[in-house]
Amino acid sequence: MMISAAMNAKLNEQLAAEFSAAHEYLSMACALEAMDLKVLSKRFQIQSEEEREHGMKIVRYVHDVGGTVTLDAIAKPSCEFSSPEAVVRKALESERRIAKMINDLLTFAESEKDHATRSFLQWFVDEQVEEVASMRDLLSLVQMACQNMLQVEARVRHDMAGQSS
Ligand code: MG
Repeated sequence: MMISAAMNAKLNEQLAAEFSAAHEYLSMACALEAMDLKVLSKRFQIQSEEEREHGMKIVRYVHDVGGTVTLDAIAKPSCEFSSPEAVVRKALESERRIAKMINDLLTFAESEKDHATRSFLQWFVDEQVEEVASMRDLLSLVQMACQNMLQVEARVRHDMAGQSS
């Protein structure tokens, strides 16, 4: 095995956090659907799929370095949201928490002089900078729209179309 048992355990913890984030985003997408915000709901569904891909990246890495993947329970997601803003605020909090977990994991890899894992984690560090920024932008958009959620829906639809082209 190319990584320590401790590093293996921490990667399994990160894996559980990514799959829990996927579950959380799906729950948020369903809450947005219930508010009839179909574009925002779609945006959160896509985010949920991305979180699952993050988890799968870790699964592949642990296998590549000869470690053992152990799946943990997925945390029960939040289900009750008072407003679209509450959903986005929760998502931003969650991205900030995940960013901190990744930073701590990278610090641990450095302390172990585990250069392979440090290099692997660099992609996640960069990804979290983007995720936090894009959720912060979305929160600011929802706040600026002052309850006019149709405006938010139109803007998010526009941004999503730009990303897929
Ligand atoms: Mg992630």
